[in-house]
Amino acid sequence: MLIVKKFGGSSVANAERVKNVANRIVESYKEGNDVVVVLSAQGDTTDDLIAKAEEINPNPSKREMDMLLATGEQQSVALMAMAIHALGVPAISLNASQCKIASSSNYGNARIKNINSERIFNELDRKNIVIITGFQGINKFGDVTTLGRGGSDTSAVALAAKLNADLCEIYTDVDGVYTCDPRIVKKARKLKEISYDEMLELASLGAKVLHNRSVELAKKYNVNLVVRSSLTNAEGTIVKEGSAVERMLVNGVAVDKDVSRIAIIGVKNEPGIAFKLFSMLAKAKISVDIILQSIGRDDKKDISFTVASTDLNDALKVMENNKDRFAYEKIDHDDNVAKVSIVGSGMATNAGVAATMFEALYNENINIRMISTSEIKISVLVDKNDADRAANAIHDKFMLESEVR
Ligand code: ASP
Ligand code: MG
Repeated sequence: MLIVKKFGGSSVANAERVKNVANRIVESYKEGNDVVVVLSAQGDTTDDLIAKAEEINPNPSKREMDMLLATGEQQSVALMAMAIHALGVPAISLNASQCKIASSSNYGNARIKNINSERIFNELDRKNIVIITGFQGINKFGDVTTLGRGGSDTSAVALAAKLNADLCEIYTDVDGVYTCDPRIVKKARKLKEISYDEMLELASLGAKVLHNRSVELAKKYNVNLVVRSSLTNAEGTIVKEGSAVERMLVNGVAVDKDVSRIAIIGVKNEPGIAFKLFSMLAKAKISVDIILQSIGRDDKKDISFTVASTDLNDALKVMENNKDRFAYEKIDHDDNVAKVSIVGSGMATNAGVAATMFEALYNENINIRMISTSEIKISVLVDKNDADRAANAIHDKFMLESEVR
């Protein structure tokens, strides 16, 4: 089998863990597999490098930032090759330019466009374990780029797709994907499998197990993906195309506390207002999530929406700067809110899921501020203080702790 194995930063944080991971890699190699390894920077290296840069220039050039950040992954791969050599097994480390991972040019958030697999296959033919830097690419100027925080998952899946690997294993410090964050819901259960679409929703709803784009790519190229622990041998969670029969009504609950609500009150009740407002926010690269518009009264209406808390100030600024265009009465905002969502591909064909969710919240006397739904997801906005209680109540209501429902 050709296997791509990705290890995250915490899995290679220190010498002991690097050696431990090296052992696991060699085990798989000795079983007769062709092994390609993708690594993140060790531990907090990326954060530390960012802090270092800010100490010197609070507004560093993005190109130089990528030159700096890419060094973290390069350290990891060289150290891992050494650890494997120490076990008497041939291995070679390669960076993005050596295995020609071509990316778009936008520094800090580049996308992989193509990978030239020739060098990698040559090294595998020479019986090497091939260890590749995650998170980085090379743009058309020949400069190093990075793929955005957490991007090593995406490197691994892109490589698995390009090499036509039999399996892509993402090793991390949790042993799989859970029905909810176990720190919030004690009864959370590890899922044996989850569909690409559900995983995509969970990833974008704040479950930090997999980089969003890695799941998109896995779906597009039908990559066999497994999330598992680098510290134990526990079976992980398989991410795959969901079959109609297995579709669970609800598979997971996600909690996102980093959201803020903005209300724009007393805008003109005429066509085009929503279009103008949201296209302005889009132009400022601010993504808007739940949207609610009130019924108009006296030629006026209110529009509320949520954004990531990190975008709150920018969003307020955009509206402040365009006060004349909207002639609103006032802007209101609140970051004491949280978004609690349920995800499940069976939802699309089953009525009553939303009612069950709302009943769970009603029983706990939790007030719902906003609601949004999609084919496989329902999100509600609640007070931040109520978020954990809401997640537990919903988790209980749908009996997510038990496999058979
Ligand atoms: N080292 C990068 C980060 O910390 C990429 C990754 O870990 O996937 O975001
Ligand atoms: Mg990660």
